[in-house]
Amino acid sequence: MLSKIKERIYKLNPDVKLVAVSKNVDESEVLSLYNEAQSDFGENRVQELKRKMSVLPNLNINWHFIGRLQTNKINQLIELNPLLIHSIDSLSLAKALDKRLELKAKKQDILLQINSAKEQSKAGVMPELANETYEEIKQACKNLNLIGVMSIGAYSDDMKLVQKSFEATYKIYESLSQKDAKICSMGMSNDFELAIKCGSNLIRLGSILYGK
Ligand SMILES: *Cc1c(COP(=O)(O)O)cnc(C)c1O
Repeated sequence: MLSKIKERIYKLNPDVKLVAVSKNVDESEVLSLYNEAQSDFGENRVQELKRKMSVLPNLNINWHFIGRLQTNKINQLIELNPLLIHSIDSLSLAKALDKRLELKAKKQDILLQINSAKEQSKAGVMPELANETYEEIKQACKNLNLIGVMSIGAYSDDMKLVQKSFEATYKIYESLSQKDAKICSMGMSNDFELAIKCGSNLIRLGSILYGK
């Protein structure tokens, strides 16, 4: 399964990084992908990330946090030292994270989540405000390394609409690249090939990896 997907990815762009989203599977599935040389995994809940890390000790996994971050979970998440938090979606959340990092003398790599399809149900800053918010976080939060953007494609069967949302995200990413932005995280099981064609360099795949 994994090797087939990798072929599809690498045919489009061999430099795209794959994060295997493990939120809906248990540790045995993580382990089997890990044994196929998959090193990066993503979780969307702090509690479950903590649990998986504790039942899978001593593996060389890069953990990504991709879900909504509640302020009362920030300390727990920091303790887990995730490689990258994809889902910072406001200056206030960034400041709250920065403050707690300061107290622990830690630094954290993050992405700014953008709601490029402007969907009510989704987290993320509005695309018009993305550049400004990105700059504000850079200025205000010395313990955060803001290194790019994350977005979820439009929720639609109309691939033209999905494409539009990816293009909007990529345009913002491009405008930031002189400010050390190097990760454009977009594309999931249903739309990753389109996302790569639109410039994504990190895709987050869940269901398609597990044949569900
Ligand atoms: C669940 C999830 C994914 C993976 O979704 P699939 O459709 O299962 O590939 C990717 N990104 C985020 C933020 C998610 O919550």
